[in-house]
Amino acid sequence: MSTFADIDPATGETIADVAISTSEALRAAVAAARAAQPEWAEVPFAERARLLLAGAARLDERAEEVARMATREMGKPFAEALSETRGWAKGVKRTMDEVERALEPEVLRGDDSETRVEREPLGVVAAITPWNFPVGMPLEIVLPALATGNAVVLKPSEHVPLTGELLHEIFSAELPEGLFGLVHGAGDVGAELVASDVDMIGFVGSRDTGRRIMESASRDLKRLVLELGGKDPLVVFEDADLDAAAECAVKHSLRNTGQVCCSVERVYVADAVADRFEALVLEKARGWKHGSGFDEESKMGPMVSAEQRDKVVAQVEDAVARGARLLLGGETPEGAGAFYPATVLADVGEDLDISRHETFGPVVSLSRFSGGEDEAVRLANDTPYGLGANVYTADAERGRRVARRIKSGQVGVNRYLGGAAGAPWVGARQSGFGFLGGVEGHKQFTIPKSISYPVA
Ligand code: NAD
Repeated sequence: MSTFADIDPATGETIADVAISTSEALRAAVAAARAAQPEWAEVPFAERARLLLAGAARLDERAEEVARMATREMGKPFAEALSETRGWAKGVKRTMDEVERALEPEVLRGDDSETRVEREPLGVVAAITPWNFPVGMPLEIVLPALATGNAVVLKPSEHVPLTGELLHEIFSAELPEGLFGLVHGAGDVGAELVASDVDMIGFVGSRDTGRRIMESASRDLKRLVLELGGKDPLVVFEDADLDAAAECAVKHSLRNTGQVCCSVERVYVADAVADRFEALVLEKARGWKHGSGFDEESKMGPMVSAEQRDKVVAQVEDAVARGARLLLGGETPEGAGAFYPATVLADVGEDLDISRHETFGPVVSLSRFSGGEDEAVRLANDTPYGLGANVYTADAERGRRVARRIKSGQVGVNRYLGGAAGAPWVGARQSGFGFLGGVEGHKQFTIPKSISYPVA
C-alpha cells in the first residue's frame, strides 16, 4: 500500500500516513457514484435537502473536532478554523434555499407551444479542492452538486486529507451507498479522477492546475467549474480614509498567513499620502504575531508547508534585491515549523516576480502611483488574473467608476470585497472558468433541458 505523510506544519511532525487511493479504488468510487446517481436524482429536492441539512447538524455538533483537525493539518488559528466550520454548517440552509430556486423550471409560451426549461443534474461530479479553507472549499462544491441531484467523488488536498475524511464521514452518513465517494492522493490522483468516468469537474486551486484540468477535460468535453488564483489589487486614493484602508491592506494581506485566493496582494497608494499610509500599515502589521494555531496569542499560524514558505522567501528576497524597501519581517524564523513573519515591503516595482505571480504568503506589498485614476486602473489591471479588487476613496462616484473599470469578479469599495450572502463567487479572466455560489453558481451543476408541448 502506498501512503503519503500528512504533516503538521507547526511542528514538522507526521500526523498520519494516509493511504493513496489505487487506480482500482478510484474507478470503483466513480462507478459506485454513477450507479447511485439516477435514483438520487429522482429523490424529491425537499428530501435531498433534508438529508444534507442533517449532515449540517452533525457538522455543527462535531465542529470542534473538525476544526482541531484543520488546524493540525494546515496550521490556521483554531478560532478561525472553528468559525469556518460553524459558518459552513449554518450556511447549508441558505445553500439549500438557493438550490431550490436554481432548480425552479421556467415556463415559456410560443404561439402554439409551451416549453418547460427544467434543470437536470449532470451525473457524477469530481470535487478537487485546496487546503486553505479545508472545510469551506470542499463543501462549496459538494453541497450544491449533491443537492442538485448529482453524485460526487471528492479528492481533498493532500495537505488536509483527514479534515476531508471527517467531512465525508459526516455528510455521507445518511446518504445512499456510494453516492458520495472519497479518494486520497496528490496531483496524480487528481489527474486520474479528472480523466475517469466523471461528467463534471468542480475545482478550486491554482491557475496552473486549472489549465491542466481544462486540457484533460477537453478530450470528452466534460463540464468544468474552475475557481483559481488571484493577484488582487487594493487602490488607495489621496482622499481615502487612510486608517480604514491600511486596516484592510494589513488584515487581508496577512489573514490565514496570506493564504487566501482573494488576499490583497498588491497595494497601490497615491503618492501624496504614501508616507502616512506606510506608517499606518507598519504600526498595524506589527500586531500580527505568528505562532501555533492552538496558541490564542497567534494571529497567524504557520504556512501550510516549507515548500510554500520557500516560494514566499524567494519572492521577498528577489524584491529586496531589486529595489523594494523591507519595512518589516522578511526573515525566516529558526526552528521547527513552516513559520514566516508578517512582512511589509514598500516601493515594490511593477515587473518584479512578487508583483506578477501569486504570493500566497503573509506579505503586504506597497507601491506608489502618481498618475491619478487612469494610472491606478492601469496598474490594478496589469495582471492576467481577475479575482478580486478593493478601492478606497471619499469620492463615491469615483469609487463606482473605478470598481467598474477594474476587471475582476468582485470589488469592494471602501470595504473589503464580498458583502451580502448569495452573490456568486466569480473568477474573471484567468482566475476562473465558470463560478460557484449563489443561485447562478448552483445552476452550473445542472444542464437546462427544454421540453415542449403543443397548446391549442
Ligand atoms: P493546487 O492547484 O496545487 O491543488 C489544488 C488541488 O488540485 C489539490 O487537491 C491537488 O492535489 C489537486 N491537483 C494538483 N494537480 C492536479 C492535476 N494535474 N489534476 C487534478 N488535480 C490536481 O492548489 P493549492 O496549493 O491546493 O491551493 C492554493 C491555490 O488555490 C491558490 O492558487 C489559490 O488562489 C487557489 N484558491 C482559489 C480559490 C477561489 O475561490 N478562486 C479559493 C481557494 C484557493
